[in-house]
Amino acid sequence: AKDLVEFRNLKTHFHTSAGIVKAVDDVSFTIREGETVCIVGESGCGKSVTAMSLMRLLEVPPAGGEILFKGKDILKLNKNEMSRIRGNDISIIFQEPMSSLNPVLTIGEQISEPLMIHLLLDKKKARKRAIELISLVGISRPEKIVDSFPHELSGGMRQRIMIAIALSCNPKLLIADEPTTALDVTIQAQILDLMRDIKEKFNTSIMLITHDLGVVAEMADYVVVMYAGKVIEEASVFELFKAPKHPYTKGLLKAKPIINQRQERLYSIPGQVPNPVELGQNCHFHDRCESCMNICREKEPPLRKDEEGHKVACWLYEEEAMVR
Ligand code: SF4
Ligand code: MG
Repeated sequence: AKDLVEFRNLKTHFHTSAGIVKAVDDVSFTIREGETVCIVGESGCGKSVTAMSLMRLLEVPPAGGEILFKGKDILKLNKNEMSRIRGNDISIIFQEPMSSLNPVLTIGEQISEPLMIHLLLDKKKARKRAIELISLVGISRPEKIVDSFPHELSGGMRQRIMIAIALSCNPKLLIADEPTTALDVTIQAQILDLMRDIKEKFNTSIMLITHDLGVVAEMADYVVVMYAGKVIEEASVFELFKAPKHPYTKGLLKAKPIINQRQERLYSIPGQVPNPVELGQNCHFHDRCESCMNICREKEPPLRKDEEGHKVACWLYEEEAMVR
């Protein structure tokens, strides 16, 4: 399949009173047409900032690098060109559908809006299409739902509506940032099914951000593991689960999910993601790594590809480290 999005050495840094936070630091990876790429890692690893950089939803533009969409650098587009892409080609759905839906507008009005703006449909046609979209995302009695307000729907239905809005203009890429984290397990499975259907039916690419490896196993074609602003491993989902290389990825796969009050799944790898303002030019995982060597504290491991295309950034796989 053709490349759809290519992140090239993306750097998104924030200047804070405590210092520079390198939220995304020299990140490169590719999303192909019709492919689901899962971005995995604990919170604060730069997954969401990567997506927000692509959507250009951050106040400060990235400090460096390129994000090619169909070969064109998104970071160089002007405001108008960007809002066209945002409405038409790339859509995003977030974790909390309630905060993304407008409480005073009906579901129909909210699905219609992008159709009227981007596809120039009139009100009547937009409403008709809204009803089709509500039905497409698996909600029964769409003629009734179209005139409902968000608070009248369940959490699972609201997330389906967000997906309907995201799909309204037939995007090439759907970005989903922890789309099922706030939902219970049954509804979560239904939403994931829906996203898989959409991908099959429309050949939509999906960039799925998650900290849940169960979701990754079910959804991903390709997996990018991020840690403290860096890509530390990437491979096909089959390869990653069969032969994980990075100690962090191995930890994620070994760790048993635990359920906390907010029903988020957390993984019990000892230690914490490092303070993002204090990151050195070394392996950011060294504090938590059982295999840590001297070189790991002193030098950053390069992200290197093996013959199968499996990439890892870890000194355990570098000859330079082994001869020391
Ligand atoms: Fe562990 Fe060193 Fe590999 Fe980092 S580079 S993951 S510290 S072995
Ligand atoms: Mg996030």
